[in-house]
Amino acid sequence: MCGRASSAQSARVAQQVEVVKPGLSKEAIARIPITSSFANPEGGTSSSSSSSSEACAICLGELDDRVRVLPKCSHAFHAECVDMWLFSHKTCPTCRSDLSSLEQQQQQQQQQQQPDQMVVVVVDSR
Ligand SMILES: [Zn+2]
Ligand SMILES: [Zn+2]
Repeated sequence: MCGRASSAQSARVAQQVEVVKPGLSKEAIARIPITSSFANPEGGTSSSSSSSSEACAICLGELDDRVRVLPKCSHAFHAECVDMWLFSHKTCPTCRSDLSSLEQQQQQQQQQQQPDQMVVVVVDSR
């Protein structure tokens, strides 16, 4: 028998191409609260920013009753506009503030949900 075993197929490894999304995940975007009636803010402005015009910086339209306020810099945009923006960006459209920490908060919560029980089994094998 002069047959050579063809074992070259085992060297084939399926490459997993990780698609790195440039923006935030859907869950992280959903964590940003939607505020209604932004046109009537209830004070609380620590820095007197009187020059803040109530317009969406993405579509330059006037803000209506469905806006998302970014938790880090409290900039407000239309919910639909900022959803689309954050799907491909991780920064605030106005001040470029880094919003990637919204995803990190989610990961930390998942770690806290893990029970820290530890079962030690001592096997006395004699
Ligand atoms: Zn908009
Ligand atoms: Zn901002």
